[in-house]
Amino acid sequence: MAILEKINSSHFINLEDQYGAHNYHPLPVVLTKGEGVYVWDVEGKKYYDFLSAYSAVNQGHCHPKIVNALIEQAQKLTLTSRAFYNDKLGDYEKYITGLFGFDKILPMNTGAEAVETAIKLCRKWAYERKGIDEHDAVIVVCDNNFHGRTTTIISFSNDENARKNFGPYTDGFVKIPYDDVDSLQALFENNDNIAGFLVEPIQGEAGVYVPAKDYLAKVKALCNKHNVLFIADEVQTGIARTGSLLAVCGDCSCEHACEQQQTYAKPDILILGKAVSGGVYPVSAVLADDEIMQVIKPGQHGSTFGGNPLAAAVATAALEVIEDEHLIQNARKLGELFRSKMQEYIQKSTIVSLVRGKGLLNAIVINDSEDSSTAWDICMKLAENGLLAKPTHGNIIRFAPPLVMTETQLLDCVSIITKTLQEFEK
Ligand SMILES: *Cc1c(COP(=O)(O)O)cnc(C)c1O
Repeated sequence: MAILEKINSSHFINLEDQYGAHNYHPLPVVLTKGEGVYVWDVEGKKYYDFLSAYSAVNQGHCHPKIVNALIEQAQKLTLTSRAFYNDKLGDYEKYITGLFGFDKILPMNTGAEAVETAIKLCRKWAYERKGIDEHDAVIVVCDNNFHGRTTTIISFSNDENARKNFGPYTDGFVKIPYDDVDSLQALFENNDNIAGFLVEPIQGEAGVYVPAKDYLAKVKALCNKHNVLFIADEVQTGIARTGSLLAVCGDCSCEHACEQQQTYAKPDILILGKAVSGGVYPVSAVLADDEIMQVIKPGQHGSTFGGNPLAAAVATAALEVIEDEHLIQNARKLGELFRSKMQEYIQKSTIVSLVRGKGLLNAIVINDSEDSSTAWDICMKLAENGLLAKPTHGNIIRFAPPLVMTETQLLDCVSIITKTLQEFEK
């Protein structure tokens, strides 16, 4: 039986290996079913999902409300293109702009497309509103950023893997250290061609780096002062992941982005993706107020699938689930519990050096060199013990379960994680 079972998953692994491009290096687990915080492999083994498809599945796998919205809309109308109006898009636009407090949304499909949209919007605004000479606009970004995989976006990455031999690169970007207000200020004071500052409120792919508490508020104030657009990439951090609706909401746990809240560093351009659809369908969005969004006129930007009625129905349901099930509060409470339990473990650990994060976006740093296989080996062992997580940048393991997890389940997961780590202690 055991041999038969393994043949099953190696069959699918071999197929992908032979017929698919090798642009990923997955853990050797073949999944076939998901429900809430759980996924099952083709051998029938059940796992806790601690990646949530890079925070796309915040609402849990195959959420019935979202799946039903998909089915109902799919039986009626899926795609019209924007050559015509459809009867789902307007309601969705009204709902999402109200939720996040912006005049308008520009709907796209993937995170990278939304980032590209924000870059185009920012540049056009710079030429037509700020008065920068054409081709001179500069967008400031941070070291170790991750904003997606298009040629423009990888042009300002400093990850050699993401960049090397994909040039020539797109001009017009300047990098500064993350979480460093002084560098940003120095740059703003010495360059009149700065159009925008594009930043992740917490750097996810880089290894869950949480900046100083007042970083985003200071960034926003500086951007305001120098007439520079503050562009927040919340593709990974948004939609309740960090224990607030958006990471830029700071300590506020309101169900909508509320401008009364002192800690809300409202961006000029907000980029959303991943969990906007609950992982059911690719949906991304760029939000901004009229004075920025109105610079784009008919024919100047678009997408065949962007704003289709299926996406509108799915995203509306996915955003409603966040409020219906109080996922902001749950992410906040369970995140604190998770970090305190891990902190307890770290006190007597030689293999884990620290835990960091916010809400349910957390990471542990493994006490070994970045090119060691320890983090990968730990993830393999975690899988064996029934929990799926993936190393990011060598020795860092990200822990980001669906936000529908219960406290009992979280404690069960903490025990799987600590028991597994124990096997690696020297
Ligand atoms: C995942 C991610 C993206 C890219 O999203 P895709 O849908 O993979 O194109 C962009 N920015 C951040 C911060 C992300 O985490």
